[in-house]
Amino acid sequence: MKTEYAKLSEESIDPEVISRAGRILQEGGLVAFPTETVYGLGGDALNPESSKKIYAAKGRPSDNPLIVHICRMKDLVPLVAEIPDAALKLAAAFWPGPLTMIFKKTDLIPMETTGGLSTVAVRFPSNKIAAALIDKAGGFVAAPSANRSGRPSTTTADHCREDLDGRVDMILDGGPVDIGLESTIIDLTEEKPVILRPGKITRAMLEEVLGRVEVDRTILSGDSSLAPKAPGMKYRHYAPKGALTIVEGDRAAVTEYINRQCDACRAEGIRTGVLCTDETRDAYRADSVKSAGSRQDEDAVGRVLFRLLREFDTEEIPVMFSESFEDAAAGQAIMNRLMKAAGHHIVHV
Ligand code: AMP
Ligand code: MG
Repeated sequence: MKTEYAKLSEESIDPEVISRAGRILQEGGLVAFPTETVYGLGGDALNPESSKKIYAAKGRPSDNPLIVHICRMKDLVPLVAEIPDAALKLAAAFWPGPLTMIFKKTDLIPMETTGGLSTVAVRFPSNKIAAALIDKAGGFVAAPSANRSGRPSTTTADHCREDLDGRVDMILDGGPVDIGLESTIIDLTEEKPVILRPGKITRAMLEEVLGRVEVDRTILSGDSSLAPKAPGMKYRHYAPKGALTIVEGDRAAVTEYINRQCDACRAEGIRTGVLCTDETRDAYRADSVKSAGSRQDEDAVGRVLFRLLREFDTEEIPVMFSESFEDAAAGQAIMNRLMKAAGHHIVHV
C-alpha cells in the first residue's frame, strides 16, 4: 500500500484534505492523525473490518481494546448502555480533552473494536484536526496510538512514517503534539471510579470533580503477575530497542552510579545513553546524553519523552539509563510510561 501524506494546520484545516481523509475512513481504510495527546491510528469504529486492519497495521494483540473517539457529546448516547452522573461531571470538566472514560457498551460497537470486552473506552479529543476528521468519518473513529505495537507512541508525523509507512492509507501531519503522553483512562463501570492509566488529567484533578477516585494497583507496581484492568497495560510498551534502566535515589548518587555504569560499558566497547534533565545533563559521561528539559517543567518532560526514547533507537544505543521522575506531580504518568519502557527495571541507589 502506498501511504499518502498531507500537512494540515489546526488554524486553517484544508477542507479538501480532511474530506479525502474522512472518505478513506468511511470506506474502511486507515488514517494516522494528530491529537493533543499522541498521534492516533484511525479506522471506522463501527466497522469490524477496520478494527481488524488497525490491529494488523500495528501488530497489536487483538485482545487489546481500541479507544473510540467522538467529536460531539451527543454521540456518546448510542455507544453506551448508560451514562453515569460521574461521566457527565467529568465530560463537563475535561471534554474535549485528554481523558478517556470506560462505559458499558451497546451493540453499535463491534466486539472487534473492544477486543471482545462488553465495555467501551470513549474519548472526545480537543485537537481540531482530530475533531474535523472524526466528523467527516461519520462520528466514530477507533484509534490506538499510531505506533507499531510495543514501541514508544508517536508524537510527530515523522514517527508515524517510521512505524506505519506502507501500512496505512494516509498520514495527516499536524506538527508535534501538545501533551506527548496518552490520555488518562478512568473506568466508570464499577461502583467506584478507577484510574486505569495515568495521564495529564491527574488523580487530584479527577478527585476535585468526583470525590474519591481509586487507582488500579498495577499502574506503578513492578509486579508483572498482577493483571491490569486496561488489557493494554499488561503488554511490553513504549520500549526502545536497547536495555533501559531507571535509577532512583538522591541526585549525586544517581549521577555517580550512572557514570560508573557508563564507564564500565565503554571499557567493553558498548555505547551508552542517558535520559536526564537540564539540572544534571552536564554531569554525565555517556555517549549520548539527552535532557528532557527542566525538572521544574513537567509538561515539557512529558512532551519529549517518547521522542527521546525513539532517538536512542535511531542512534542504535544498546544500553540506556534514565533518571527517575517519581517526585513529579504529573510524575505518575511519566513514571508509568518510563517503567514500562524499562520493563520495570529500576535500581535504587
Ligand atoms: P492506546 O490505544 O494505545 O492508547 O491504548 C488504549 C488503552 O486503553 C489500552 O491500554 C487498552 O487496554 C485501554 N482500553 C481500551 N478499551 C478499554 C476497555 N473497554 N476497558 C479497559 N481498558 C480499555
Ligand atoms: Mg499505545
